[in-house]
Amino acid sequence: MRPAILFPLFADIRTLSGVGPKLEKLIAKVAGPKLADLAFDLPVGVVDRSYRPKLASAEPGRIATVEVSVLDHLPPRIKSQPYKVRVSDDSAVMELVFFRAHHGSMADYLAAQLPVGQRRVISGRIEKFKDRLQMAHPDYIVAPQDIASFPLHEPVYGLTEGLTARPMAKAVRGAVDKVPDMAEWQDPAFLKQRKWDGFRAALEQAHAPAHDGDLSPETPARQRLAYDELLANQLALLLIRGSMRGNKGRAVFSTGKLKAQAIAALPFALTDPQLEALAEIEQDMASERRMLRLLQGDVGSGKTIVSLLAMLGAVEAGLQAALMAPTELLVRQHLASLEPYAKAAGARLGCLTGREKGAGRDAILAKLAAGEIDILIGTHALFSDDVAFKELGLAVVDEQHRFGVHQRMQLQSKGKPADVLVMTATPIPRTLALTAYGDMDVSRITGRPPGRKPVETRVIGADRMGDLIAHLRVALDRGARAYWVCPLVEESEKIDLAAAQDRAVMLRQALGLDVGLVHGKLKAAERDAAMEAFKAGQTQLLVATTVIEVGVDVPEATIMVVEHAERFGLAQLHQLRGRVGRGKEKSSCILLWHQPIGQTARARLKTMRETDDGFVIAEEDLRLRGPGEVLGRRQSGLLEFRMADPAIHAEFLDIAHDDARLILRRDPGLKSSRGEALRTLLYLFGRDDAVRCMRAG
Ligand code: ADP
Ligand code: MG
Repeated sequence: MRPAILFPLFADIRTLSGVGPKLEKLIAKVAGPKLADLAFDLPVGVVDRSYRPKLASAEPGRIATVEVSVLDHLPPRIKSQPYKVRVSDDSAVMELVFFRAHHGSMADYLAAQLPVGQRRVISGRIEKFKDRLQMAHPDYIVAPQDIASFPLHEPVYGLTEGLTARPMAKAVRGAVDKVPDMAEWQDPAFLKQRKWDGFRAALEQAHAPAHDGDLSPETPARQRLAYDELLANQLALLLIRGSMRGNKGRAVFSTGKLKAQAIAALPFALTDPQLEALAEIEQDMASERRMLRLLQGDVGSGKTIVSLLAMLGAVEAGLQAALMAPTELLVRQHLASLEPYAKAAGARLGCLTGREKGAGRDAILAKLAAGEIDILIGTHALFSDDVAFKELGLAVVDEQHRFGVHQRMQLQSKGKPADVLVMTATPIPRTLALTAYGDMDVSRITGRPPGRKPVETRVIGADRMGDLIAHLRVALDRGARAYWVCPLVEESEKIDLAAAQDRAVMLRQALGLDVGLVHGKLKAAERDAAMEAFKAGQTQLLVATTVIEVGVDVPEATIMVVEHAERFGLAQLHQLRGRVGRGKEKSSCILLWHQPIGQTARARLKTMRETDDGFVIAEEDLRLRGPGEVLGRRQSGLLEFRMADPAIHAEFLDIAHDDARLILRRDPGLKSSRGEALRTLLYLFGRDDAVRCMRAG
């Protein structure tokens, strides 16, 4: 259980004074629902009110704090005019300007705040308007003796529409004040060497920047906090890993007979990297320990077939296997492409997705329970509570980036200790692999199957759309098949969808051809029908939103056009490009960019033109965008660092990794007094899952 000392921090933010339901919703959107989330939401800027000029010499445009006397009030004569108050120091006169202040209550308020003849300290942005000094809506108006009541330096936090700076800052302050004093969990010698303060002090400092330099991730305070977060992450992963391994697995032996039958049916030879990865997997499966392995490989590197061969090992041992894919479409595709080889080995396939319902679903579940299905392929539906295998030996999860550590654990807790193989087509930079998958062993399939030609990549401006369409017409006349991808941005989904629809209409007219259209808003059946038509060659051109990003396999497609390529991330572009170059024909990828295009987007497109090595692209992606984006934080909830940035704090990541190992070697149950403190650290960063693991193990 969470230590009592942390209870106040894990209260809902609405418990803060001044935070009602409306504000709570907005704050939760930017920071999170708990006070701890707010406390960990570090400032992104700072307002410096320490500039205290004489009015006559005040630089227009700057935030300044001035001490003045109130001269007189000039209420508006008509509603549309602002309410003005004139103030002066001994050097000049300035007008304070208040818009929409014609209400009597506002006038009363201003009269009370700014009594004529009194001195006031005022802070805000000074502007010059036709030689007159003005300040519109000062941020602070206080009596001179109350100057301590406003901060000379104000932290600025990330906001969202409807959320303004002041209430947000106040809420964060309230949350930080609730951070208790906790026993130190870091090694004192290490802290001394780094010259780092305690957690609370570091957090206070991080929330009290005086200038931009204090916002740098490299300040001692932010480094300390980042290190705490990374250590919590590494400890958690090691604990989870330890408990999964501690759970005895089962040794799955096979002679390789079924595997050999399937291999004999393959129209190609497996590559060396494929064989090596398979050997690693088989070794894990044969061991007593439970396998938890990540199989990384570029798009089309041939992971799926490797997973089938591994699954056949389980089947031969009299167990069942499951293959989970992220979408219905991919499930059908896996089913179709694996069926012939599974058949050759005499393995019985089944399929379970959200589409299987009622009696049909019951029949599948009955067969599964009776052991009449050897390999079940499906979506998340595979792991619904009522799905019971007779004896699951190996679970394979395809396309890891939608599948976080929590789901991995869920899968583990499902009945008997099945081996787990996770496949990802998004190559993951080393540092991220450590933070997100530190609980797993990793195999990599490098390179692509032989005979694949590299995809020629061209980057062109949208002003050359006409040329592009002319080229496309020639290629399509020759029988080529092409994708045309339009982006779908969450915020303006409707508009983008309309853009994709318009594009389909436009291309249909320009090319005089049937054009397919798939997007996320289509019903699954409609979408599949459009995909099928493209696969079968009935439509040669498929306009799509990014729904085709994940795993679609049409080897005959040789052209990929990505419109608004500047809006896509590198990993996404790489995925999209991987949709072509799958057959024997030479393929090309055309990245169309539209204005405005920023520096980062340019750098991305350049990278795409220069390399098609997924691992290089992943490292570059991390450098350009930061880790949250690379792993698709929002969808996956995979990496939720608030204070650490694995790209910047990479050095600490290695230290934290070693540190965590050492800690657990010396004190596996975290029972020493430092161990106790480290438990608090884990809870502080919401790693309750890891602590639970420890209890169970
Ligand atoms: P991934 O799952 O890594 O994206 P797939 O397993 O879907 O890749 O393989 C992509 C395509 O390459 C499939 O059509 C598959 O049959 C084919 N393939 C796999 N391995 C080889 C190989 N060694 N030689 C030739 N083609 C292969
Ligand atoms: Mg795949």
